[in-house]
Amino acid sequence: MKKILLALFIILISSNVFAVNLFNPKVSHPVIIVGDDAIESEKVAAKELAKYLNLITKSTYEIKNAPSDSDKVKIYVGQTKLVKEKLPSFDWNKLKYDGIIIETVGNDLILAGDRPRGTLYAVYTFLEDYLGCKFWTLDSEYIPSLRLINIKDINYTYTPKLFYRESHYKATYNKDDYSFAVKLKQNGLFQTTPPEWGDHEFFINGGHSFERTIPASYFKEHPDWFSLRDGVRVPNGAQLCLSNKEMRKEFIRRTLEQIAAQPQYKIIDVSQNDNQNYCQCEKCTELANRYGGQSGLLVDFLNEVSSAVKEKYPNEFVESFAYTYTRHAPTNIKINDNIIIRLCSIECDFSTPLDSETNKSFYKDIKDWGNLTNNIFVWNYQANFNNYHIPHPNIENISKNINLFVNNKVTGLFEQGDLYNSSVTFAELRNYVISKLIWNQALNQDKLIKDFINGFYGKEVYNDIANIIKIYDSACLREKYFLSCYEKDNSYFNENDYISAFKAFDSAISKTKDNKFKTRIDTQRKGLELSLMISKYKDSVLKKYPKAIKSPGTWCSDYVKWTKSTDNTYIREMGGISLQYFTEKGIYEPPIESYPKMCRDLNKNDWFDFQDGGFMLFGKNQWSFSIDDEKASDLSAAMEPCNHKEWAIAVSLQPLVDRGYKSADIYAVVRKENKENASFLAGVYDFDGIVKVPEFVCPMEDLSVEYNTFYIGNIDKIKTGLQVWVSPNDPFTKNSIIVDRIFAIKK
Ligand SMILES: [Zn+2]
Repeated sequence: MKKILLALFIILISSNVFAVNLFNPKVSHPVIIVGDDAIESEKVAAKELAKYLNLITKSTYEIKNAPSDSDKVKIYVGQTKLVKEKLPSFDWNKLKYDGIIIETVGNDLILAGDRPRGTLYAVYTFLEDYLGCKFWTLDSEYIPSLRLINIKDINYTYTPKLFYRESHYKATYNKDDYSFAVKLKQNGLFQTTPPEWGDHEFFINGGHSFERTIPASYFKEHPDWFSLRDGVRVPNGAQLCLSNKEMRKEFIRRTLEQIAAQPQYKIIDVSQNDNQNYCQCEKCTELANRYGGQSGLLVDFLNEVSSAVKEKYPNEFVESFAYTYTRHAPTNIKINDNIIIRLCSIECDFSTPLDSETNKSFYKDIKDWGNLTNNIFVWNYQANFNNYHIPHPNIENISKNINLFVNNKVTGLFEQGDLYNSSVTFAELRNYVISKLIWNQALNQDKLIKDFINGFYGKEVYNDIANIIKIYDSACLREKYFLSCYEKDNSYFNENDYISAFKAFDSAISKTKDNKFKTRIDTQRKGLELSLMISKYKDSVLKKYPKAIKSPGTWCSDYVKWTKSTDNTYIREMGGISLQYFTEKGIYEPPIESYPKMCRDLNKNDWFDFQDGGFMLFGKNQWSFSIDDEKASDLSAAMEPCNHKEWAIAVSLQPLVDRGYKSADIYAVVRKENKENASFLAGVYDFDGIVKVPEFVCPMEDLSVEYNTFYIGNIDKIKTGLQVWVSPNDPFTKNSIIVDRIFAIKK
C-alpha cells in the first residue's frame, strides 16, 4: 500500500458520537498492532484479522509490534501492555473467563480479551457483528465486500455466563482447521485446540473415570474395593465400593498423582463408570440411606477426595457426574466448594423444554443441586443416538433449555450432538445455533435460524425450510410423544406430515438455482426419505405422493453410496450405515448368492448376517479401517492392520436377542491382506460377565489371502451385552486382517 495516502479521518456525526473511518482506500488504512508481550493466540488473532480485512477490502494489512508516528489509524490486538496503557482504568478481571472488549479510543480500535482465547473471540465478534461476516460451517462463510469501513464509537465488553462451552458436532473437532471451533467460541473438553488457537478446557480423566483410577487390576488383591452385586464382588462393568476406607485412601493417592502429572489443568474428573451397578454392600447402603440416595454416598466420597485435593491444589476442581442413579440431589449433606456437579439429562423428553411437565423430575433435580452448590455443569443431549439420520424434532427447545440452564446456576454446558456425520438432521444449523446461544443467551433463536437458512440454503427457501422444521417439531408435540435420545423411527409422524414435508423440500429444491444449495437441501431430504422407508406409512405415502421416493427399488443401495460420498456414514455411534442396516430394518433383501454357503438352504429366520457396514470400528483409521474389497460378499470389508492386538472390530449380538435366539453358533469370514504370516483372535465377550464366552485362535497356516469361514464357537445363553470381537494376533507383522462378515446360525 502507498502509505502516503493514509491519513487520519474523523467524521463528527453529532456533538459526542464519533465515527472511526477505519478503512478508506484514499485516506485511511489501519495498521494492526500486536505488542511484544502478546501471547501466541493473540498473534494468531492479529493474523486472522489481517486475513479477513484483506478478504473484505481486497487490501493488505501490516502487522507491527509498535506503532510509529506515521500510523494514523491503528487496530490494537491483544491484552498487551500497549493496550493496558490505552485503557488505564479498565478492570481486566471483569473478562474472566473468556470475555472480550471491543472499544474505540480516539481514532484507534482495540480488540482484546481474557487470556488465553478472549482476543480471538474479540476479533471474530468484530468481524461478525460490526463488519457482517458469517461463519456458517467449516467451509462455508459469508465475507462481505466493502469499499469503506466506517464504524461508530464502540464501547463493548462481554463475558459469557458459561465458561465451559461445547457443541458436540463433527465440525467442531476438525484438526485441519481449528479456527471454526474458535469462531463458534467452543472451548470444550473433547477438542484438541492448541494454545496458539486459544487452547480449551480439559478435565483430567475425561469422564466415567472410576475404572481408570482404580482399574480391575486391583481386584485380585482388593476385591472388596469393587461393587458388591447380588452378593458377589464385580471387577468389570460395575462401580467401586465407595464406602471402603482403604479404597478411598488409594483413590486419593492416585488422584493427587494424576493432578501432579498434568498440573496445567484446573479440573479433574472423578466420576462413576457408565453403568448402573453401584455397590450394594451394607456400609454403602447405609451411607446412601443417610444422605438421600446413591448421590449422597457419592458426595460423601467426593467430599473426602476433594478435601485432600484442596490441601495440595487449592485451585483445582473435582468434577463428577450426577447421572442415572445419582441424578437426584442428596439430602442431609454439604458439598465442598471445589466440587463441580455435571448433571446429565439423558432420561428426559426432548420434544418439550426441560422445565415442562414431562421433565419435572429433572427440573426438580437441577433446582435441588442448585440449592447445594454453585458449581453445576450440564451434559445435555441434542441427537438421536439410535438413528442420527432421521429427523429429530427438538430444534424448537434449544434456546429455552440453554436459558433454563443459565438461570439455574449452570456455568458449563456440553450439548451432545452428532459427532460422526457432517450434515444429516440439520447438523450444521444446530451447531451454529447451539454455539451462538451457548455464548450469548440473549440472542434470538428464530433470528439465528433465519440467518442460517438464508445464508446456507438460500433466502428463497427460507419459508420452506422453516416450515419443514415446524412440521417435524409440531408432529411430536401434537402426538404428545415422549421423545428420548434413543429413537428407532419417527412413529409420531403421520401420512400428512410426510407428504407436507416432502412437498416443502421439493418446493425448496425447485426454487434453488445454485447447485451447492440444492445439494444441501437434498441432504436434509434424504433423512426424511430414510424415515419414510422404515415407516409404516411408506406404501400409503408413496401412493399419494409418488415423488417422495424416486426409485424405491434401488433406494437402499443408492442411499449407502450417497452416505459414503457425503461423509454421513454413521447411523449410530460407531455403527456404519450399510445394506446390512436395511436388512435389519426389513427393507432390503440381499441376493441369495451373497449368503454364506452353509446358510443358503436355511430358513431366513434361522441365521443372521453381520456385515462390516454394521461393525463397530474402534480406533478407526488407526486400528481399524473400512475398505472396499472385491473379494468380500458385499464388496466392502473391515480391516485391522497387525500393528496391535486390540479388539478393534466388534459387533453387538443384540439383533439375535431381538429375534428371540436362545443359542447360536458364531462364524467369522476372514482373510489376510498379503502372503506374510498372520493370524487372528476372535471371541464373544459378555459385558456383565455372566455368560461363558468362547475364544478362538486362528492358526497361522489356516489364514489365507482368500476368505475362509471360521467357527468361533457356540453361545448357549444369548442375551443383551454380548459382543463378538476380532483382533490381530501378531503385532508387528506387515500384514492386515480383513473381515468380510460375521454370521450366526440359530441352534
Ligand atoms: Zn460398598
